[in-house]
Amino acid sequence: MPPETAADLVLRGGAVHTVDPVRPRAEAVAVRSGRIVAVGSDREVGQRIGPRTRVVELRGRTLLPGFQDAHCHPCTSGLDQLRCDLLAVHGAAEVYRTIAEYAAGHAHDPWIVGSGWYMADYPHGTPHRRDLDAVVGGRPAYLENRDGHSAWVSSRALELAGITASTPDPVGGRIERDADGTPTGALHESAMDLVLDLIPPATAEERERGLLGAQRFFHSLGITAWQDASVRPDCQAAYEALAGRGELTARVVAAMTFEAGWDVDALDGLVVRRARGPIGRFAATSVKFFLDGVLETFTGAMLEPYLAPDGGLTDRMGMLVHDPPVLRRTVAAVDAAGFQVHMHAIGDRAVREGLDAVEGARAVNGPTDGRHHIAHIQVIQPVDVARFGPLGVTANAQALWACHDRQLDELTNPFLGPERTAMQYPFGSLVRAGARLAMGSDWGVSTPNVFDEMQVAVERSHPSLDNREPFLPGEAVTLDQATHAFTMGSAYVNHLDDVTGSITPGKLADLVVVDRDLWDRGAGPISDARAIATFIEGEPVFEDPALGG
Ligand SMILES: [Zn+2]
Repeated sequence: MPPETAADLVLRGGAVHTVDPVRPRAEAVAVRSGRIVAVGSDREVGQRIGPRTRVVELRGRTLLPGFQDAHCHPCTSGLDQLRCDLLAVHGAAEVYRTIAEYAAGHAHDPWIVGSGWYMADYPHGTPHRRDLDAVVGGRPAYLENRDGHSAWVSSRALELAGITASTPDPVGGRIERDADGTPTGALHESAMDLVLDLIPPATAEERERGLLGAQRFFHSLGITAWQDASVRPDCQAAYEALAGRGELTARVVAAMTFEAGWDVDALDGLVVRRARGPIGRFAATSVKFFLDGVLETFTGAMLEPYLAPDGGLTDRMGMLVHDPPVLRRTVAAVDAAGFQVHMHAIGDRAVREGLDAVEGARAVNGPTDGRHHIAHIQVIQPVDVARFGPLGVTANAQALWACHDRQLDELTNPFLGPERTAMQYPFGSLVRAGARLAMGSDWGVSTPNVFDEMQVAVERSHPSLDNREPFLPGEAVTLDQATHAFTMGSAYVNHLDDVTGSITPGKLADLVVVDRDLWDRGAGPISDARAIATFIEGEPVFEDPALGG
């Protein structure tokens, strides 16, 4: 091959899973000027090797299209990594120690801000301000839990916010109280804002630094693109700054947050924000609606009441963030304006409202290319499982949650009862009913490690759990289906499937090398696998020495 047409990069001798039905398996891939130019046997692709071609010997390891995370929060969680980060801390005692250390190390910060505590570490899922006061003294502290739907604040923070026993719960939120009505220091949903509004916002420089850290982290996991699932103006500015300077190597779609209380007129502002791009690999083309809260705090919107610990009915049915008529007209307008609708829905009522809103939009606008998706989809009534496919709504699964972890076993299932427990995370049923499947991590709610998520998607269990019994094994998907969801499935919702998502000649060379043959079940659990190299348009953005070549 003459040097002027030779490949820049050849990866050969591998178990290449292309996620392209035209040629699902291959041994080797050639890349030139950022694009895939050949996929085939070592012999076929070897003809592209010239004197300046870099040749990587895969030695039987798996090569895949770069992973795309369809629902994550790198902007906020990147920032969290710079603060009091509790995500990797296990157990209440360790949490108290970590906060105390952080407080001592940041003695002059006006606020102690952090996140990542785990509900199952505390009685009834909520820690108490007394325990926080004991480690931060009289300082104001604000610590969000892993899912970002609750905050744990110190007594000084409550005092500064003026929250007392006589403060009513705000619309769309709840102040957790002791038996006598005194706030405990746990704030749910919009009640978090009562304190959050007092905390000095992060600077632009901090946001950009946080995002760059998140990007490095994601690249080290084989992730080449993502959808940021809740982008507010300050976060968008950070992405745009990085993209404008050429520092955003990942492809990013922003789902701009549609705030509680907004109505159709808010759309004008989103149109203006979208029109600033695309910039480099960044585009703000999706709109995010939180439809409800989460089951663990009884804020997930349910069609029937939550159960009491004794199995009787309570009067709690969760909450809808947007009034259904407002949601329907807004989703129709957002769809008509050419945006994608990205919805957070946990409870069966929220899932149904989301599907109804898309159905209403289809009725007035006809089919559009918005590629709307509903994320989390924890409890879905069987009649609604069947609606995703025909409505063209992609099921955006956070597969890691579909296992017997303590949060599910202790804080969720007892309050749902057996019938609704069996309606959770029905990914297998969705696929069988013709739904498209995308996958994402919801980082920093949980790890962005794709192999952990695939592990649970395929086995409905994870080696790290105390209770390893598979959770609803009939709802498992195959490794091929999970791989498709993390590549073509998520590329579809990102509107990137024409240029990425599979290893196909002509597409951009976004690739990940896995440290083993992922399909060799003798090689150990899927969750043991790791990425050893990540390429974007043929350029390495992460490389472990184990790659060689
Ligand atoms: Zn999320």
